[in-house]
Amino acid sequence: MNKTNAPWTIGSILTWTGQYFAEKGVENPRLDAEVLLSHILERERIQLYVNFDQPLQPHELTAYREAVKKRVARMPVAYITGCREFMGLEFCVTPAVLIPRPDTEILVEAVLKKLHGFDQPALLDLGTGSGAIIVSLLANLPTAAGAAVDISDNALDIARQNAEKNQVSSRLKLYQGDLYQPVKGQTFDAIISNPPYIPDSDIQELTQEVRQEPHLALAGGPDGLDFYRRIVRDAAQYLNAGGLLAVEVGIHQAQAVAALAQPMEQLVFIEIIKDYSGIERVVVFQRS
Ligand code: GLN
Repeated sequence: MNKTNAPWTIGSILTWTGQYFAEKGVENPRLDAEVLLSHILERERIQLYVNFDQPLQPHELTAYREAVKKRVARMPVAYITGCREFMGLEFCVTPAVLIPRPDTEILVEAVLKKLHGFDQPALLDLGTGSGAIIVSLLANLPTAAGAAVDISDNALDIARQNAEKNQVSSRLKLYQGDLYQPVKGQTFDAIISNPPYIPDSDIQELTQEVRQEPHLALAGGPDGLDFYRRIVRDAAQYLNAGGLLAVEVGIHQAQAVAALAQPMEQLVFIEIIKDYSGIERVVVFQRS
């Protein structure tokens, strides 16, 4: 790839990879090249800029080429580096879990705001995946205790690692099972969930990158609302009086999800919160 036979430097390999990714249709070619290289060199991205002339060692070059190949095969950057930042914390991710999205920070921030003033709140995260939601809530609420459920044992392994990494594992119980089933008989001050919400017919239209994420974490049934129906239907049974249910929703789903509480006697819809792009992203309910 380097015609002059000059050794590859940080600067020259970033230029080459940026162009290569662009030709291959990778969405953020230069950014991805930098994130992958900084991961392999184990330094901050800014450090690449002040060391442009530094030659790469053969083992670094080998590792980088492997990473570039994976990215061109549309593996998301976070699966290649094995980590992702969320709410200012570092999370491990593998293809067993959905990659935490900035959208979900809106959900976490909304819950933090609403729980202000609760002493020692008990929290439940349904479909925890990487644990990003419950771990970042616990990290920001030092007196809170959490329970997190996932149907996937592989996801729970990652959530456990992330709880340890972010020092909240002593306050978090992890359960394998289907939604509320493993926490039968317990009640909470807040239930939080980012369930699978992509309508089945839209799955094929997702980017190749998103399609490498677990189907189990994406597919929400014919209209995408299957999990909300079950979560809302049983929420009151698992909430203390005054307790909250907050869920992330996909585009154009908020009104339909809010309406699910209409026939419920003990659960009322209280608020829809928009994300930074103005999309209705979070629906909040309260137990009366
Ligand atoms: N936010 C994800 C996406 O748009 C979907 C996550 C989910 O189904 N909860 O790809």
